Amino acid sequence: MSIEEKGSISIHTENIFPIIKKFLYSDNEIFLRELVSNAVDAVQKIKRLAALGQYNGELGEPLVEVILDAEKKTISILDNGLGMTAEEIKKYINQVAFSGASEFVEKFKDAKDANEIIGKFGLGFYSAFMVSDLVEIQTLSYQDGAEPAKWVCDGSTSYEISEGNRTTRGTTITLHVNAESEEFLVQSKLEEILDKYGKFLPVPIKFGTKTVQEPDGEDEEGKPKTKSVEVDKIINTTNPIWTKSPADLSDEDYLDFYKQLYPFSEDPLFWIHLNVDYPFNLTGVLYFPKVKNDLDLQRNKIKLYSRQVFITDEVKDIVPEFLMLLHGVIDSPDIPLNVSRSFLQADSNVKKINSYITKKVADKLQELFNKDRKGYEEKWGDIGLFVKYGMVSEEKFYDKAKDFALLTNTKNEQFTLGEYHDKVKDNQTDKNGQVVYIYSNDPSKQDSFIQSANKKDYDVLLMNSPIDNHFINTLEQKLEKTSLKRVDSSVASKLIEKDELLESVLSEDQSKTVKEVFEKAITKPGFNVEIVGLNPEELPVTVTMDEFMRRMKDMAQMGG
Ligand code: ADP
Ligand code: MG
Repeated sequence: MSIEEKGSISIHTENIFPIIKKFLYSDNEIFLRELVSNAVDAVQKIKRLAALGQYNGELGEPLVEVILDAEKKTISILDNGLGMTAEEIKKYINQVAFSGASEFVEKFKDAKDANEIIGKFGLGFYSAFMVSDLVEIQTLSYQDGAEPAKWVCDGSTSYEISEGNRTTRGTTITLHVNAESEEFLVQSKLEEILDKYGKFLPVPIKFGTKTVQEPDGEDEEGKPKTKSVEVDKIINTTNPIWTKSPADLSDEDYLDFYKQLYPFSEDPLFWIHLNVDYPFNLTGVLYFPKVKNDLDLQRNKIKLYSRQVFITDEVKDIVPEFLMLLHGVIDSPDIPLNVSRSFLQADSNVKKINSYITKKVADKLQELFNKDRKGYEEKWGDIGLFVKYGMVSEEKFYDKAKDFALLTNTKNEQFTLGEYHDKVKDNQTDKNGQVVYIYSNDPSKQDSFIQSANKKDYDVLLMNSPIDNHFINTLEQKLEKTSLKRVDSSVASKLIEKDELLESVLSEDQSKTVKEVFEKAITKPGFNVEIVGLNPEELPVTVTMDEFMRRMKDMAQMGG
């Protein structure tokens, strides 16, 4: 075989591969993601050319195959995509990566992770050198009269292009895995990486074979027989539900997909199918899970895809903070494959995506509320936390959620904010015209206070979830002429200052003496002793903490 061309790839720098290797090393498993997605792209491109009538040859079954040869220490990625001519190799493989070499060296210092380097410099293909001593391309272009071509590069600055050996259209990339990367020469390791990044790629990815049982006629007694056959092991589902139209999907489809993503989880409460194509492209399905006690464990469950290639489950900047407990998938080609932290924070599409998701979630909740109030109330225990968190943290969400957020009272009745206002405004307006909402954050300990409030026909709200402290503050800021008081924060009779103080059966002197006795016994600051009118239904003496001290104490307990 004659060498047709030898060349040197870089003029400005000695050798950029050590730099690439060094910077990419931390997440070197992405070489497989990059090479497999290039192969998938190549297959998609030939399909498109055929559809446009620009390719009239045999298309064949689209397939990408990954082959591990542990003995030879090679990993190969094969596709029946559009292939490349020798000219195209020079253009796409040599020039693209190396035209920017000097710029690369100039800028690599600022790069924060491998994705950023790949993204900025179009080095997806070159990530192969993170794990290889030598990389070989064998390729045959779809173009009429194209000759097979071969490209070999050992990670130095020189490459060789010569006549290749592929006899069918497409490309084979063979990596000769280096000594430090032998972990990738293990079947199960490759399978794990393929599953992580390629589970939903749009072209079938074959990795080895598997044995299945197939029907094989009947035995002498007429019972069905089976035989073992070897079939291709395809590691992916090519059309996951988020690529389909909601009209074509049943509840079961959504639940099955959820099980596929989170095998050991309980069924979700409901889901939202995302589908936008303007001003950005985004599809996906978000699920509301049943809330578990251990909230932290459930965070970061949303997976981000770009054209069905898994990118990351760090979606912090794309999904609003308060929705980080949701599960599911987001796919956006507008988020580049080689997405990086700093890119996400700066990107304006990402901000739009963020507010789109907020709006969609709000619309869905409003729809559930309108359609089936009872069902919605039943779900409130699980979704209330998200909704309150959203109302506390995002103004825009508050404005929508104020119509479907529910308040629950100690009698387990549920009201919207508007309904609640109407319910209590007559009886619970104080002499300054403020409507006073009374709440309990610990009904078992505050039972006697709740009872005395109820005796006065005051309603007591239940505010005992982890977010309720903040939620109360938000309500106080947002609701006009409304204040919230904790049921035990002052004597029940004074919660709403319109009542006459009950006449005490104790004389003033007697009251004073009793008060002094209690105050001596309680030495901590911030507690108030009050002598209440002694009618048989009242607690004669109450010890309360004033509201300011209580809030200080709560804050100290929350650690900030
Ligand atoms: P990107 O995929 O972002 O363009 P890469 O470095 O991954 O950057 O690939 C560079 C180019 O090499 C691709 O755009 C494509 O033209 C070509 N290429 C890479 N792999 C293949 C392949 N398997 N089949 C055909 N062309 C390929
Ligand atoms: Mg690529």
